[in-house]
Amino acid sequence: MKCNLCPRKCNTDVLVNTGYCGKSGENIKIAKVMRHMWEEPVISYKNGSGAIFFSNCSLRCCYCQNYQISHLGCGKECSVQDLANFIKKLDESNVENINFVTPTHYTDKILQALKLYTPKVPVVWNTSGYETEENIQKLKSYVDIFLFDFKYCSEQKSQEYSKAKDYFKVCLKALKKAREIVPKDQVENGKMKKGIIVRHLVLPEMWQDSIKIFESIKREVGTDIYISLMSQYVPFYKAKEMECLNKKVKPLEYKKVLNSINELGFEKGFIQDYSSSSCEYTPDFNLDKFFEI
Ligand code: SF4
Repeated sequence: MKCNLCPRKCNTDVLVNTGYCGKSGENIKIAKVMRHMWEEPVISYKNGSGAIFFSNCSLRCCYCQNYQISHLGCGKECSVQDLANFIKKLDESNVENINFVTPTHYTDKILQALKLYTPKVPVVWNTSGYETEENIQKLKSYVDIFLFDFKYCSEQKSQEYSKAKDYFKVCLKALKKAREIVPKDQVENGKMKKGIIVRHLVLPEMWQDSIKIFESIKREVGTDIYISLMSQYVPFYKAKEMECLNKKVKPLEYKKVLNSINELGFEKGFIQDYSSSSCEYTPDFNLDKFFEI
């Protein structure tokens, strides 16, 4: 069972070895199932988003706030049927949507679970943006909403921080494909039914890179798209050992990115207050609290 699901295409037989993303074996690994109240307001809305956090990750950024699950692989082994049961339980718990967090490396199994149980609420694909076009295409008619990270423009920085020199080109193509399969945003009474939210976390001394990302989105996809600008960067994991990352984003850096978004004409979206930079958005991945709805 050789895996080529993500742009790494490492061709690993995960029944025998461990892929770059950290997955191995027959099962899915899940770190947490929870009602998530801190996603964007159109996603968490009134009752919260039904989030399923998958363990391991195909991007594995060195500053990841969820490094316990993305790098260290903390989580529980679950079958496709277990996953379908979690989706059902969330769906019956009055959540606003089912939110697959860092799902790329388990795409095929997630689609199998959605065939076993199709939720009534919208399905959210909450991705690092490091996706192949083929993988996004597979999601057509299963996924309603993309929470789509767009992290870097610079090849040098994407290599240094995520070991993915091709991140920008790959992410831009994947975003265009996502727009193809979900062509219009649909928000009713403040709640998203269908659509794309492009998320961008501003990193220290990277404001020029951030601006290039928004210029590229405008050029290739247009400005009629939700964006979510995040100021919550805190040095986690390996970032604490790196001079360029072991610092906060300065208010002026954040303001420059914010100004450029306005000048470029993006009008739909969410801007985190500069003061939001803290650990409060990081869920507790203690396995004793595996299920918190
Ligand atoms: S999903 Fe994991 S195993 Fe599959 S190609 Fe990507 S890194 Fe390799």
